[in-house]
Amino acid sequence: MRFFTAALATETNTFSPICIDRRAFEASLYAPPGKHPATPTLCSAPVTVGRRLAREHGFELIEGTATWADPAGLINRETYEGLRDEILDQLRAALPVDGVVLGLHGAMVADGYDDPEGDFLTRVREIVGPDVLVCAELDPHSHLTRKRLDAADFFVAFKEFPHTDFVDRAIDLWQIALDTVEGRVVPRMSVFDCRMIDVFPTSREPMRSFVDRMMDMESADPDILSLSVIHGFMAGDVPEMGTRVIAVTNGKAEKGAAIARDLGMELFSLRGTFMMPQLNEREAVDEALKTAEGPVVIADVWDNPGGGTAGDSTVLLEEVLARGVTGAAFGTIWDPIAVQICMAAGEGAEIPLRFGAKSAPGTGNPVDARVTVVKLLRNAEMRFGESYAPFGDAAHIRFAGIDVILNSTRAQSFDPSLFEVMGIDPRPQRLLVIKSTNHFHSSFSKIASKIIYCAAGTPYPNNPAKTPYRKARRTIWPMVENPHAEKDVVA
Ligand SMILES: [Zn+2]
Repeated sequence: MRFFTAALATETNTFSPICIDRRAFEASLYAPPGKHPATPTLCSAPVTVGRRLAREHGFELIEGTATWADPAGLINRETYEGLRDEILDQLRAALPVDGVVLGLHGAMVADGYDDPEGDFLTRVREIVGPDVLVCAELDPHSHLTRKRLDAADFFVAFKEFPHTDFVDRAIDLWQIALDTVEGRVVPRMSVFDCRMIDVFPTSREPMRSFVDRMMDMESADPDILSLSVIHGFMAGDVPEMGTRVIAVTNGKAEKGAAIARDLGMELFSLRGTFMMPQLNEREAVDEALKTAEGPVVIADVWDNPGGGTAGDSTVLLEEVLARGVTGAAFGTIWDPIAVQICMAAGEGAEIPLRFGAKSAPGTGNPVDARVTVVKLLRNAEMRFGESYAPFGDAAHIRFAGIDVILNSTRAQSFDPSLFEVMGIDPRPQRLLVIKSTNHFHSSFSKIASKIIYCAAGTPYPNNPAKTPYRKARRTIWPMVENPHAEKDVVA
C-alpha cells in the first residue's frame, strides 16, 4: 500500500487588508517533503498521524510539502499557484498510489481563485484518476463547494471550536482511508446545506451537546463513518459561503442524507443562539467599572488577528480615554510604524506619537498622544499553553494613566505573560483590554475578576445581514428570514 500526504492551508478573511505571499507561509510553517516537525500545526496533522500509522501498519507514506500561513487576507496568485504546483509535481512523481490524504483548511481565497481547494482537489483527481482514494481533513470554518465534493471521496472536519481535536480528527480520516483501501468500507458522502451562517463555539451550549451527540451517533451506528459540521466562514466573501452538515456512511447515501438533513435542520432551528452574549464598547466599559476588584478583562472579540484582522482597532481605547479611566492596560495594538518610531526614540523618551487604526474602516481612529516609551523588546513572545507565540518587536508606551503595548507581528492575546514581558504586572490593573475571541479564556480566567466579551466597531464582518458581500449568496439566514423557501440550493 502506498499513500501520498501533503498540507496546503490558510484561512482567508477577504475583508482583511493584510494580503499574504510566500513569505507568510514560510514564516508560519513551510516543510518540504520529509522535513515536517514531529508536532503538527493545525492543518498538517494528516502528515504526522500518517507517519505513525505507516510505521504501525507497514504501508509506504510519500510525503509532499506541508505549509500553513496564519489567517490573513487574500493570497497572492503566484504564491498559491506555486505551492499548488509544487505539491502536484510531488504527487505525479509519487505515482502509483492507493490513496491521497490531505490536510487542508477549506477557507483559502487567492487572487483569481474563489475556491483554491476546489481547484487543487480537482487537479489531484485528474492526476490520480477516478479510482484512487482522495480525502482531506478540514477546518470547520471553511466553504464546502460543489467542486470539492465532486473531486474528493470524503472529508472529515474538526468537531471542536476552539480546535482542540485536530489530531483526533486526522486519526479518524486515516482510519477511514485505510479501511477503504483495504476493502472494509465504501465511504459515501452526503451533505445538507443549512442555508445559514453563524458562529458555533463548542465550549458552551447549545453546540457542546450537539457535538457530543454527533460523536455518540458515530460510535453507536456502524453505518456512520464520520459526521462533521462545516460551520462556514462569514469573513470569506465567496459564492458558496454557509453552514453545512456532512455525513460519511459506509455505502448508505440515502441514510446519510437523512441524517445530515436532520442534524442540519436542528442547527437551523437553533440559529442565533450559539455565540456568547456581547456588549458594545460603551456597555463593556460601564460593566467593567461596576466591578471594584481588578483586573476586569475586556476581550475585543472581533479584532482578533487569529481571524485574519490586523489587530489595530482603537475603538475600546478611545472609549476608555473619553471616560478618563486610568489603570487600564491594552495588549496589543498592531502598529509596526509606531514601534519603529519608539525604537528610534529609546526607552525613557517622551514623544508625540500617532498609533493604531490604520488598517481598515470600522477600526476607530488613530490615537495622537504625547507618550512615554517605557520598555522596548525585540522579538517579543508570550506563552501559549506549552509553547510560545511571537508578537514581534514591541513597545510599551504610557500616557494619561494608561499602558499600551504596540506590536509589529500580528498576534492574538493568548496569555497574560504578554503584559509581563513588557514590564506590566497585569494583576493590579483595573482593566485589561485584549484581542482574542476564545483562546484567551483558559489563561486569563485565572487572574480575571470578570471577563467581558465586547463587539467594538467592525474590524471583522460579524453581522452577515449587514456585511456588504459582493459574491456570497444572500439567500441564507440571517440575510433572509426563511431561506429554506428559496430556490438556489447548491449542495
Ligand atoms: Zn477554524
